[in-house]
Amino acid sequence: MSKNSQFTPTELHHWQLTLAEANRHNIFCHCRHCEAEWVDSSEEAACPHCGSKNIERIACWQFPDD
Ligand SMILES: [Zn+2]
Repeated sequence: MSKNSQFTPTELHHWQLTLAEANRHNIFCHCRHCEAEWVDSSEEAACPHCGSKNIERIACWQFPDD
Protein backbone atom coordinates (compact mmCIF):
# COMPACT_ATOMS: atom_id res chain seq x y z
CA MET A 1 0.00 0.00 0.00
CA SER A 2 1.23 3.49 -0.79
CA LYS A 3 2.07 5.66 2.18
CA ASN A 4 1.21 8.70 0.06
CA SER A 5 -2.48 7.87 -0.06
CA GLN A 6 -4.58 9.43 2.69
CA PHE A 7 -7.75 7.81 1.41
CA THR A 8 -9.27 4.56 2.46
CA PRO A 9 -10.45 2.41 -0.45
CA THR A 10 -14.03 3.49 0.29
CA GLU A 11 -13.11 7.17 0.27
CA LEU A 12 -11.13 6.71 -2.92
CA HIS A 13 -14.07 5.05 -4.61
CA HIS A 14 -16.35 7.91 -3.53
CA TRP A 15 -13.87 10.46 -4.85
CA GLN A 16 -13.70 8.70 -8.22
CA LEU A 17 -17.49 8.80 -8.44
CA THR A 18 -17.43 12.51 -7.60
CA LEU A 19 -14.91 13.14 -10.36
CA ALA A 20 -16.97 11.14 -12.82
CA GLU A 21 -20.05 13.16 -11.89
CA ALA A 22 -18.20 16.45 -12.33
CA ASN A 23 -16.91 15.24 -15.65
CA ARG A 24 -20.41 14.44 -16.87
CA HIS A 25 -21.98 17.73 -15.83
CA ASN A 26 -19.27 20.32 -16.20
CA ILE A 27 -17.63 20.19 -19.59
CA PHE A 28 -15.53 23.05 -20.89
CA CYS A 29 -16.26 23.46 -24.59
CA HIS A 30 -14.15 25.16 -27.23
CA CYS A 31 -15.44 25.67 -30.77
CA ARG A 32 -12.74 24.90 -33.29
CA HIS A 33 -14.74 26.80 -35.92
CA CYS A 34 -15.22 30.24 -34.29
CA GLU A 35 -13.06 29.90 -31.13
CA ALA A 36 -16.05 30.38 -28.80
CA GLU A 37 -15.63 28.99 -25.28
CA TRP A 38 -18.32 27.99 -22.82
CA VAL A 39 -19.20 25.45 -20.14
CA ASP A 40 -21.91 22.93 -20.84
CA SER A 41 -23.32 19.82 -19.23
CA SER A 42 -24.16 18.20 -22.53
CA GLU A 43 -21.80 16.10 -24.59
CA GLU A 44 -23.95 16.66 -27.68
CA ALA A 45 -24.03 20.45 -27.65
CA ALA A 46 -23.38 22.46 -30.79
CA CYS A 47 -21.64 25.81 -30.65
CA PRO A 48 -24.09 28.49 -29.39
CA HIS A 49 -22.38 31.09 -31.56
CA CYS A 50 -22.01 29.46 -34.97
CA GLY A 51 -23.84 26.15 -34.61
CA SER A 52 -20.76 24.11 -35.46
CA LYS A 53 -20.45 20.66 -33.94
CA ASN A 54 -16.69 20.72 -34.33
CA ILE A 55 -16.29 21.12 -30.58
CA GLU A 56 -13.34 20.34 -28.36
CA ARG A 57 -14.52 19.18 -24.91
CA ILE A 58 -12.41 19.24 -21.77
CA ALA A 59 -13.59 18.06 -18.37
CA CYS A 60 -13.22 20.98 -15.97
CA TRP A 61 -11.60 18.89 -13.24
CA GLN A 62 -8.65 18.30 -15.56
CA PHE A 63 -7.63 21.95 -15.24
CA PRO A 64 -4.87 22.74 -12.73
CA ASP A 65 -6.35 24.24 -9.58
CA ASP A 66 -3.97 26.90 -8.35
ZN1 LIG B 1 -18.54 28.23 -33.02
